[in-house]
Order: sequence, then structure tokens, then C-alpha cells
Amino acid sequence: MATDLIPYANAIGYSPEICSYLTADIGAYLKKVTPLSKAYSDIKSIPKPNVLVFNTNQCREVQDWFGWFANEFNVPLVGISTPRTIGEVTNGHITFIAKQMETLVKDLEKVSTIKFELNKLKEVLALSRECSELWKKVLDTAANIPSPLTFFDGTIHMGPAVVMRGTKQAVDYYKLLLVELEERVENHIGAVDNELFRLYWEGMPIWGRLRHYSELFASLNACVVASTYCNSWIFSAFDENDPFRSMAKAYTELFIVRSDEYKEKYLKKMIDFFKIDGIVFHDAKTCPHNTNSRYGMPQRIELETGVPNLVINGDLNDLRCLSDEQSQTSIEAFIEQLESN
Ligand code: SF4
Repeated sequence: MATDLIPYANAIGYSPEICSYLTADIGAYLKKVTPLSKAYSDIKSIPKPNVLVFNTNQCREVQDWFGWFANEFNVPLVGISTPRTIGEVTNGHITFIAKQMETLVKDLEKVSTIKFELNKLKEVLALSRECSELWKKVLDTAANIPSPLTFFDGTIHMGPAVVMRGTKQAVDYYKLLLVELEERVENHIGAVDNELFRLYWEGMPIWGRLRHYSELFASLNACVVASTYCNSWIFSAFDENDPFRSMAKAYTELFIVRSDEYKEKYLKKMIDFFKIDGIVFHDAKTCPHNTNSRYGMPQRIELETGVPNLVINGDLNDLRCLSDEQSQTSIEAFIEQLESN
């Protein structure tokens, strides 16, 4: 739906160049539609929130986006300002963010009829960590040859880790999935028939074309085995015995929050761990924050590791920024290049 809805947000002053999650979502509100109606017939359009909560750790857009809704619905906007392009995550960063989280509790208690309970937070956090650990194990099965899952599978299976983290249902989901993947590993069942090339996807998914690119890579015997994106829902630092500081640490250690130097080290580790033959960088037109191909990173990594890369121009949501024909031609040429290496 996004490509049709974005122009409504553009018409009230939000540039087509900014986050297409923001513009698609505000466009959906303006048009009074939501994909949720398909699952829940009583949800006709974006429901009224009581409060909007943001964290700037990934970008400033979320604050602007939720600010628009706060203004529209006349409800409070609260949040956490996180420094970005961080090299090492220090105690200073953690204290700064943990204190903001503690202040949020007071702000949210003013809005809610429910009082904060430390024990309940600890319980949720313990479940969140369990979910994270299982999700990491699920993704790590892709280090096997052949890989039992692809990045495209990961973008669907990450759903519970994104929206149900902290519940028992999410934990149960990944336990079940892990058993199935381990069985596949044991029986050498690959996600892609006759896996010849192992690729890494760096950047945002192209949501409206998951099937298209999944089938295209599979038809070339190339398995996109891993991605930075799916790894974003691994929060190893969560510790129920130190809830605020450990949450501050986990949400600040994320790839998107870090410096290029850190990101390059991380990607090199991923190349080794997943036995990667080539990296596909997605240059997402409306998300500079999760696009890492614009300041020479692909070239630096190729120089240091010898692993070649391809940059695809597209977008997470706005399909007007993507040419399937051009991308297909460059992906086919890239695979030919890998064949001749
Ligand atoms: S990180 Fe990118 S895609 Fe995500 S909200 Fe920010 S601008 Fe949008």
C-alpha cells in the first residue's frame, strides 16, 4: 500500500526524500486506511494512541513522525535522545540513557492507570533476553553449508522478536523454529536448491519485493544467508538484575547507532562467520541511516577482505525508487563475476 499512500504525506509538506515509513504511515492516516483492517475488522484506520514514545537511537525521523501524531491527536510525546555514530559504548552513554528511561516511567505513569512494577519489568526483560538468544541461534544456523534459511525468510520470522518480544509466545515460536532449522541442518536441506554462492544483505529490506528478490537469487543458486537488518533484534545485553542500564546498553550497542569503524569491524566478522562470497549493499533512497554504501564502506571492506560487493539502488517502501530491471541486470552480472572468481 505504501507507494500509493506516500503522496498524501508529501502533499502536507513531508518530502518524498525522507523516511518512507514515516510518509506511508502519515499518508495512511490521512487517507483513513490501515492494513490492520484486513486482520481486525473493527480497526478501520490508525487507532488513537494515549501517548507516543520514541528513541532517536536509529534516527531523528521517529521523533518527527510521532510528533506529528501527538499533535494531531493532542496526546503527549515522550522519548529518549540517544547519541549516534558511537564508537565504544561507555558508562557515560549508558548512564545518560538509563536516566532518561527512568524519567519515562514517571511520564508514562501520568498517562496510564497502571503503576510501574519493577518485578514485572524484570520478568518481561528476562523473556526478552530469552527471545533474543533464541533468535540469534535461529539466524546463526545460516552459517551452515547449505544454509537452512535465507535473509528473506528472516524478514518474516523476525516478526515475533519485533512486536512480541517479552512474551512467552515469542519464546515458544523461536524454540519451535530452531528445532525445525536444526533438523534441516542435520539433513543438509538448504533454503536454496544447490547453493553455490553465499551472500550478505547490508541495509534495509525492499519490503514490497521480498518474493521477487528471494526468487531471483534462488534462481541463480545464490543464498542470501544473513543480514545486518535481521540481526537488529538481538539484544544480548538485557539483564533483569540491572534492567535500566542493561536496556540502555542493549539499545545503544546496535549496529545502526555505531560509527563506521565499528560497523566495518562488525561486517568483517559476519563475512567470516557466515562464509560470505559477496555483499549486497542496498542503498535505500529514503533511509540514509540504514544505508552504508555512500561513504566508501563497500570499497574499504572489499580492499581488506577481497570479498566483492554490489550496490542496489532502491527503497524500503517507496517502490518508485527501484528499478527491478536494472537491479536484476546488476545482480545477474554480480553472480557471473562470482562464478569467474
Ligand atoms: S531508520 Fe530509516 S527506515 Fe527506520 S525509521 Fe529511521 S529513517 Fe525510517
